[in-house]
Amino acid sequence: MTREKILCFALDVLFPPRCANCEVKVKTNAYPLCANCEKSLPINTSLFCAWCGARAYSLSKVCHAGAPCVLGAATRFDRAAAQRIIHAIKYENKKFLAHPLGKIIAGYFDRLSAEVGFDNLTFFVIPVPIHKKKILKRGYNQSALLAREFIKQSNKAESLFFVDDIIFKTKNTPSQTECKTRAERLKNIAGSFETRVPEFIRGKNFIIIDDVCTTGSTVSEIARLLKKSGARIVLALVFAKA
Ligand SMILES: [Zn+2]
Ligand SMILES: [Zn+2]
Repeated sequence: MTREKILCFALDVLFPPRCANCEVKVKTNAYPLCANCEKSLPINTSLFCAWCGARAYSLSKVCHAGAPCVLGAATRFDRAAAQRIIHAIKYENKKFLAHPLGKIIAGYFDRLSAEVGFDNLTFFVIPVPIHKKKILKRGYNQSALLAREFIKQSNKAESLFFVDDIIFKTKNTPSQTECKTRAERLKNIAGSFETRVPEFIRGKNFIIIDDVCTTGSTVSEIARLLKKSGARIVLALVFAKA
């Protein structure tokens, strides 16, 4: 046994890995979600309209065709486990949760891909950017962790490319959770992102990754910028949808 393995073993005995939601013991911290909690998260089987949240069975059958993107959401935010683990990865420094969340997003995306015609497409994967002041405070962008884990665990990893230097958050806006209505959220986020390489965007397909989607205001604002620069398909892909 190497020294690291002995240390890991000792740590596991002293602090056994526990489920990030219900805290029962789990086998390994590399997958900190127990089978029961994972089962409590129903996996969606369709895409959604990014404007009203209605189900969309193909890219051409979205009810609000004017929305700048279509929404993919792996599971439901009204489940306690989803709320608990999103809070933990965002505010409790539990970066290791990106692994199970990324796996769940990848499973949902892979199953849906053939059905909606994504199979032969190449996508550039963008995490929702956060302002540099927030990065300094939190130390990381949870959406970037999710984006990397999603790509790593998708069967289509070879046609997914991580990019985090084409969209920037230039205004440090108050958290969207402080805005109650859609109108407030749209106003709060409007004009707060910028793209610096519009020529890169033209003709390409994009996936915008976020942890949760409430009214779709944030991802729609980013998608609007991408579309303005000539992006083709834009999919907002989140772990959970409210
Ligand atoms: Zn559990
Ligand atoms: Zn709609």
